[in-house]
Formats: sequence, structure tokens, C-alpha cells
Amino acid sequence: MEKSEFFEKMLEAGQFSITEDGHALLFGEFVMLFPSGTVLKLIELLEKEVGETKASKIIFKLGEFQLEAAIKRYKKRYDIDKQDKRKILTFLFDILNILGWGYAKIDEISFEKKYAKITMKNSALPEKYLVTYKKKRKRPIDQYLLGWFSKTFFYMFEKEVRAKETKCMVCGDKYCEFDIKTKS
Ligand SMILES: [Zn+2]
Repeated sequence: MEKSEFFEKMLEAGQFSITEDGHALLFGEFVMLFPSGTVLKLIELLEKEVGETKASKIIFKLGEFQLEAAIKRYKKRYDIDKQDKRKILTFLFDILNILGWGYAKIDEISFEKKYAKITMKNSALPEKYLVTYKKKRKRPIDQYLLGWFSKTFFYMFEKEVRAKETKCMVCGDKYCEFDIKTKS
């Protein structure tokens, strides 16, 4: 679905609202909006404190957590266990694509082979990184999205998956690319 169309439908259905007491609610959950620079700063501080590898794992786990928490909410709200998995997948991506990270597109998917490839042509974090630090970096930066994809496809395929960001704009690639395979 078109991003704007999806967002409008959500607004109409009251799924996103700002309350009188200063809360923003998305699907019944409090949400807080952070500028991309703040997210980037969090990554920078974490990397300084615990090193790049551990920081990556923490951010990855955060992405996993968000998806798990969302699934719990949708289970209560929409009884999604009874719905078609492809419909749920579209719904999850429709939501992800209005959160400001960029536009994620599933380029390849096989439920049979339990494999998926996702690309994001305009990931916000690398764009912000390149402007802020004025240099590329060796390590891909979209660990949060990677964690989110990892849990999404674990849920879709009902099997542990190995997720990897194989291309990242922050490393000089033209777009970000994420590979999801099951662990053999
Ligand atoms: Zn990336």
C-alpha cells in the first residue's frame, strides 16, 4: 500500500493519535519520536562505551524487541494467528514504512525455502550518518532494522533465521540490502 494512503487510513481509524495529556499513541502503544541524530548519537555513545561489536548486538536486540512487542499487541488486537501470513507480513511492512527509517521492500521471498531479501533505497540512518560524520564507515549501521527483519521472518518461517545486512549505504553502497536465511 502507498505509505500516505496507509497512514491516512490509520488516522481515520484512530490508530494514531495525540492525546490531550501529551501522549502519542500508535496501535494503543505510547510512541516517542526521536530525531535520527539522536538515534545516531545513541549508537555512537554505545560504541564508545562497549565497542562496535557489542553495540551492534544491543541495537539488533532492540529491533528484535520492537517486533516481538508489536506482534504481542497485534495478537491481542487483531487475533493475527488466524490470519494469512502474507497479509500479516504486508501489514508489518506497511507499519515499518511509516516509522521514518526508510522504505523497505521485499524483493524476494520464498516461504518454501524460507528465504527473503529486502532492500531499502533510502535508509535514513546512513543518510544522516554520512552528513554528520562526513565519512563512510566499514560496518553497516542498520542493525535495528536487521533485528526487526530477523524477528519478522522468524515469525513468518517459524524457524530460527540468520539475518545479515549485505549492503549498506553507510559503507558506500547505493542501497541497503538484507538477506534472511534459515539456520542450517
Ligand atoms: Zn544500511
